[in-house]
Amino acid sequence: MKSNAIVWFRNDLRLLDNETLVEAAANFDIIPVYIFDPRHYKTSNLGFTRTGSFKTKFIIETLAQLKSDLQKIGSDLVIRIGKPEILIPAIAKEVNAVKVYASKEITYDEIIIEAALEASLFKNGIALKLIWQQTLFHQEDVPWPIKQVPDVFTQFRKEAESTVKVRALFQKPTKLPAVTNIELGELPTLSQLGLEETVNDKRAVLDFEGGERAANKRLDNYFWKQDLLKNYKETRNGLVGADYSSKLSPWLAVGAISPKTIYYEVKKYEKLRENNDSTYWLIFELLWRDFFKFMAKKHGQKIFLENGISSLEHTLKNDAATFELWQNGKTEDEFINANMNELRMSGFMSNRGRQIVASYLIHQLKVNWTWGAAWFEHSLIDYDPCSNWLNWAYIAGVGNDPRNGREFNVESQRVQHDPKGKYVALWS
Ligand SMILES: Cc1cc2nc3c(=O)[nH]c(=O)nc-3n(C[C@H](O)[C@H](O)[C@H](O)COP(=O)(O)OP(=O)(O)OC[C@H]3O[C@@H](n4cnc5c(N)ncnc54)[C@H](O)[C@@H]3O)c2cc1C
Repeated sequence: MKSNAIVWFRNDLRLLDNETLVEAAANFDIIPVYIFDPRHYKTSNLGFTRTGSFKTKFIIETLAQLKSDLQKIGSDLVIRIGKPEILIPAIAKEVNAVKVYASKEITYDEIIIEAALEASLFKNGIALKLIWQQTLFHQEDVPWPIKQVPDVFTQFRKEAESTVKVRALFQKPTKLPAVTNIELGELPTLSQLGLEETVNDKRAVLDFEGGERAANKRLDNYFWKQDLLKNYKETRNGLVGADYSSKLSPWLAVGAISPKTIYYEVKKYEKLRENNDSTYWLIFELLWRDFFKFMAKKHGQKIFLENGISSLEHTLKNDAATFELWQNGKTEDEFINANMNELRMSGFMSNRGRQIVASYLIHQLKVNWTWGAAWFEHSLIDYDPCSNWLNWAYIAGVGNDPRNGREFNVESQRVQHDPKGKYVALWS
C-alpha cells in the first residue's frame, strides 16, 4: 500500500498536462485539496478586493468541473476556506500525509506562503515538493540562470526559441484512489466570500465558463470549428466580439489549460490546416506570457512597486478623485470610458483596450499606475499577476521597455480600431 500525499491545487486546475498531479499519483495515494484564501477577498485601502466577482465565479465553476472530473476517476476534491500555510499542515495530519505536492508559483505573496508552509510542514517531518509548470518553456531548459534572463523581450524570445524544445504533455490520470476519512467541504458561493453576484451582460465578448472542459471547447471552436487561427495576426487588435482573439486567457490564468496544450494544438493545426504568420503569432504571444513569468521570478517584489524594475523615480499622483472617474468610465474621453465600462460590466477588455486605458491613466491623467494595475487585478476575469503588473510597468516606463514607456494617442487609436464608433456605441 502506498503512503498518502496531498496535491494542493493552485493555478493548475486541470487533469491534462498536470505534472504535479501525475508525479504525486505515481508515488502516493493522493488527496486533492483546494483552498480559498480570504486574503484575496479582503477590501484594500483602495476600496476593493484583490480578487473580484468575475474571476472568483470563474474559479468556482472551474473547481466544480475539476471535482466532477476527479470523481469520474475515483477521487474527489477537498475544499476549504482559510490560509493554506495553516490549513494544509492540519489536513496533512488528519490524513496522515507524508508529502505535499503543489505547482510552483512565481510572485511575491505566493512565495511567502510557500516558505511559511514549507517551514510548518518541516516541523512535522512532511516534505513540500513544488513543481514548475506555468510556462511554455521550462525554467530548467532556458539557456540562462534566472538572474541572467534578458530584460528585453526580443532577446529573450530569440535565444529561447533557438535553444528550447517544449516538453511533452503529461497525460490525464485514468484512475485515482478514493478520498476517505476526511470531510470534503463544499464550494463556497460568491456571497460567502463577501462578493457580489455577477450580472450577465449580453455585450460581453464571450460567456466565459470556467473549467477544463470549457477551455478545450473554446480551443476546439477557435482553432478547428471556426478556423479562426489562420487569421489571428490580422484580427488580434479587434475590440468587439468573440472572434478577434483566442480568449483563452481566463483558462490559462487558473491553469484550466496549459500553454503546452495550446502550443501542441497550434502545431497540429499547422500540419493539418495551415502554417502561416498567424499560427506562429499565437505562440509568439504565449512567449510574452512566458517572458513576464521569468521577469517576475527574476525581479521579485519590485514588479508591484511604483518604481518597478527600473531605477527611474516616478512622479505620478495618488489622486483618488481622478482615479475614480477612470475606474467608472467617467473621464472626458468616450473611447476610454467604453473600455472601462466593458471591464467593469463584463470582466474582460481587449489587449488593445488595456494598453490604451493604461496609457491614459499614466500619461494623461498622471495617476499612480499601481492603482490602475490593482483595479485590473480586481476586475479582470483573466487576471494573472505577472502579465498584469509587468504590462502595466511596461507602459509606465518602469518595466521591460527599452523605449522607456508607451504612450498611446487615444484619438488615433480610436480612429484606427473603432473607425465607425461601433465599440463606443456598444459600451457607452
Ligand atoms: C495593462 C495590461 C494588463 C494585462 N493584464 C493581463 C492579465 O491580468 N492577464 C492576462 O492573461 N493577460 C493580461 N494582459 C495581456 C493581454 O491583454 C491578454 O492576455 C489578452 O488580451 C487576453 O486575450 P486573449 O486570450 O484573447 O489573447 P490572445 O491575443 O488570443 O493571445 C493568446 C494568449 O497569449 C498571451 N498574451 C497575449 N498578449 C499578451 C501580453 N501582452 N502579455 C502577456 N501575455 C499575453 C495570453 O496568455 C493570451 O491568452 C494585459 C495587457 C495589458 C496591456
